[in-house]
Amino acid sequence: MSSQPLRLQLDSAALANNWRTLDGMSGAARAGAAVKANGYGLGARDVVKLLSTAGCRDFFVAHWREAEEISGLVDPSQISVLNGVLPQEVERAKRLGAKPVVNSTAQALRWAEAGGGLCDLMIDSGINRLGLSPADIGDPILRKLDIDICMSHLASADEDAAQNAAQQKLFADVRRYVPARRYSLANSAGICLGTDYHFDLTRPGLALYGGLPRAELRGKIHPVALPQAAILQIRDVQAGAQIGYNATFTAPRPMRLGVVSLGYADGYLRTFSNTGSLHHNGKILPVVGRVSMDLTIVDISGCDTLHEGDWLDLDNDLVKNARLSGLSQYELLTGLGARYDRVWHS
Ligand SMILES: *Cc1c(COP(=O)(O)O)cnc(C)c1O
Repeated sequence: MSSQPLRLQLDSAALANNWRTLDGMSGAARAGAAVKANGYGLGARDVVKLLSTAGCRDFFVAHWREAEEISGLVDPSQISVLNGVLPQEVERAKRLGAKPVVNSTAQALRWAEAGGGLCDLMIDSGINRLGLSPADIGDPILRKLDIDICMSHLASADEDAAQNAAQQKLFADVRRYVPARRYSLANSAGICLGTDYHFDLTRPGLALYGGLPRAELRGKIHPVALPQAAILQIRDVQAGAQIGYNATFTAPRPMRLGVVSLGYADGYLRTFSNTGSLHHNGKILPVVGRVSMDLTIVDISGCDTLHEGDWLDLDNDLVKNARLSGLSQYELLTGLGARYDRVWHS
């Protein structure tokens, strides 16, 4: 057991249950898992192990390095690399044996010329990010590919936007012209849009990790990660004391403060200065002054039982934290950083 003063308490049962819930909500389709960006900050290797035990078979990363990091845990043919394959990545890709998600006719040619092998194909159905334009689906180079998953990505599934149905319709049409073993459209939010969006495989990310991109998931999806930080020092200050960088907080009365091992390098961003709060045994401990790189100061007045080394909980309500900070739930998770001990329990 390491003694890092910063840890993520990770609930393996909640992760597995969230996947099972999303798999169930996907109807006849199976749910895969987006595990890019280190499993949305939670630790990709542990996430992949737990989800494959739960029954998940398809894993999506963005980079080849991320695919390498989880190779050995599942068969490489179960890993899709969403960002595709650049000329300088072809050799690495062939060596690993994971699937590039081919995003253009140029990439299709590149992959075919490198000897091909199983790949996936992204169709751009309106997000105008990565993916083959629908106008290119007749290109003969596609016939040279051995396509496992033909997919597209929804731009606005977290809203009730007309764009959702437009993308669904376009993808359903494209599907008739692109031969593939399986078809996939929905991310976490897309799963909530109904059967028409499920096709053969869904690709949830955020909701696996406790995020709620749509209200339909409330009560069904549960938090997975609870960050905790230790108190490094307790100090008593007089009324008028100025707290932290640039003295943005002045003590209105004598206060007891806890200086906590948590900062913006740990994803606790400066936006929580004077607005965020930590918790201890149900008591709210408001952040006072600026959050700095490694330290945050909280008001622990009246908490006489707290000592240096004691653990404080962060708020793990992603919806609330997103509202409070102006950050997305995605940013709150992927920003967690490398300094946490990641501790899984069931
Ligand atoms: C990140 C990503 C997902 C997962 O999206 P969530 O909104 O986190 O569920 C699915 N598909 C693609 C192509 C992605 O980039």
